[in-house]
Amino acid sequence: METTIKIKMEQSNKYQSGYPLLMKDALVNPQVLTEEGQRLNVVDEQGNYIGKAYYGLQNKGVGWIVTNKQKEAIDQQLFDQRIIKAIEHRKPFYEDPNTSAFRVFNGEGDGIGGLTVDYFAGFYLINWYSEGIYQFKNEVVAALTKHTDYRGIYEKKRFATDGKYVDDDDFVTGERGEFPIIVQENGVNIAVYLNEGAMVGVFLDQREVRKTIRDRYANGKTVLNTFSYTGAFSIFAALGGAMKTTSVDLANRSLPKTIEQFALNELDYQEHEIFVEDVFKFFKRAVKKEKRFDTVILDPPSFARSKKMTFSAAKDYKNLLKEAIAITEEKGVIVASTNHAGVSPKKFRGFVEKAFAELGLPYKINETYSLPDDFKVHPSFKEGDYLKVLFIERG
Ligand code: SAH
Repeated sequence: METTIKIKMEQSNKYQSGYPLLMKDALVNPQVLTEEGQRLNVVDEQGNYIGKAYYGLQNKGVGWIVTNKQKEAIDQQLFDQRIIKAIEHRKPFYEDPNTSAFRVFNGEGDGIGGLTVDYFAGFYLINWYSEGIYQFKNEVVAALTKHTDYRGIYEKKRFATDGKYVDDDDFVTGERGEFPIIVQENGVNIAVYLNEGAMVGVFLDQREVRKTIRDRYANGKTVLNTFSYTGAFSIFAALGGAMKTTSVDLANRSLPKTIEQFALNELDYQEHEIFVEDVFKFFKRAVKKEKRFDTVILDPPSFARSKKMTFSAAKDYKNLLKEAIAITEEKGVIVASTNHAGVSPKKFRGFVEKAFAELGLPYKINETYSLPDDFKVHPSFKEGDYLKVLFIERG
């Protein structure tokens, strides 16, 4: 059964030209949305066909349009076709002997919003971003079963479950993994846990940045890695010949996790520094001790709250940059990253411009990165192209 949903006149152009996210305020009759997973026939106010969608509550949206073709239905065949095409696009990754972790399916970029699938050395991890897309679990698992050779499938339900039962270890089917599983990324070992909450140990979208740091910004350098999580940037820097790396993260887990990653790559963590500390406190300490670093990595979350302060990339990134600049050597490099969709590339460069201007220092942007090829983006959904990374040389 399909429900017809109407797009308001003033918004219909946007949807006719391919915008995939259904916004509640674009709808004439939102009251027909009753059950997540409901299939929707999307039309304009005159009844002209726009596409087919499913109802699912995710962030600001109420669903995703998954096809504009009148002949297509949201059925097993559609999931099969989308998955086959996505796998085809990742062929170079499947064939790369030095990398065994990458994104196989990137939501709307691969034609179905609200759903991502990552590959970790034989295991697949499905992320469900709404109850709505979760209603299609059978179809998605069947498509993966038909079109891939997996050892096992795991899942993360990234939506409020209203007290409903959630698998304790996120296992779906196949073989259970023995965690950590060790994946490779450009020849580097990374420990991955698919059964320990939302984060698995590595953020795959930073692959190219890690490689660049290892290959070109580490040799002989002192490297400060702030918001270091499991220390992935530090490991790459150490392998690239860094004199010393310093990792700073306030989560207690970051210490054992970082030690584990060093050990996995036969590096002696005792030659490096790992601090469980608030980054802003660390900056103050470093300034007091007149410490300086050749390379400073800034990869904060979009929003963070600690006991003493809150950080929002949209409001506070400029000040974060100023603190980093103060402890960066002349000619040193700041790797500034944000995954906040609300901060455009232009705005992000604006923060850099202002931070240096306020300190009266020159700078130069050496290179920039955005999402890698496996994080396919939808041409009409720029918000999905969220990653911005700048390599900034301090004058
Ligand atoms: N750069 C990491 C990912 C960072 S995830 C990587 O590439 O793997 C964000 C991290 O920031 C989390 O581990 C969180 O514990 C940490 N964090 C958040 N606020 C912080 C703060 N004020 N000081 C230090 N770490 C913080």
